[in-house]
Formats: sequence, C-alpha cells, structure tokens
Amino acid sequence: MKKQWEQTQGIYIHIPFCMQKCLYCDFASFAGKNGLMHQYALALANEIRRRAAEMPVSERATLYFGGGTPSLLPIDDLKIIINALKETKLWREPAEVTMEMNPGTVDFANFASIGKWALIGSASAFKV
Ligand code: SF4
Repeated sequence: MKKQWEQTQGIYIHIPFCMQKCLYCDFASFAGKNGLMHQYALALANEIRRRAAEMPVSERATLYFGGGTPSLLPIDDLKIIINALKETKLWREPAEVTMEMNPGTVDFANFASIGKWALIGSASAFKV
C-alpha cells in the first residue's frame, strides 16, 4: 500500500476532439474526427479497467477532463468513462470534477443531466 504522498492526487483524462484545429495549438487535438468519439470513450474505458491496478490513486483524487474540447463529448460517452473510473475506484465521489469547455459547445439541458447523474453524494460536481 502506497503512502498518501506517493499516490496520484489527480486524474487527467484527455479528450482530443475539437470543432476546428487552431493554428497556434500544439495540444493533441483533432478536428473532423467526431465520428470516433464513441469508440474513443469505449477504448478509454477498457484501458482504465485494464490498467487500474497499476495506478496508486488517492481516495480523494480529483478528476480533470482536458483537451481538446471535452464539452464536445456526448453525455453517454462521458458516462462510459466516468463509470469505468468509478468501478475501478480510481475516482470516488464526492471528489471534485473539472472539465474544460468551449461555451459554444455546452448544451445546458444536457449539462444539467450530467449533474443529476454525477451528483449522487456530491453537492458540487458539475454544478453550473
Ligand atoms: S485544444 Fe483549444 S486551442 Fe487547441 S485546437 Fe482545440 S480549441 Fe483550439
């Protein structure tokens, strides 16, 4: 068992999809690949389950979705990823969740539905 300071305190999930590729951007991000989002979420969930035992993660580890434009990801695909993290106990509620967003891609009705889904036991995750 790793000591608290030896454990990962935050989990970063990269969502590499964007509406367009900005000229100045060096991030791993791709435009015109949105058709791969579901496959990406499934592959990521598989990788999380396969590698979970190798990752010493604190019980209070936070979760950060970066990109790319994570807010482009459909809610059902986001749930696939979060479910894998919860199943493997890499992320536990009510630890904080943060997501980078392009306001133009946020459907607030959908966002509220994430909140209801993710808010079990947490008062602040995904609150807008
Ligand atoms: S990650 Fe940000 S800066 Fe890079 S291409 Fe996507 S929107 Fe543009």
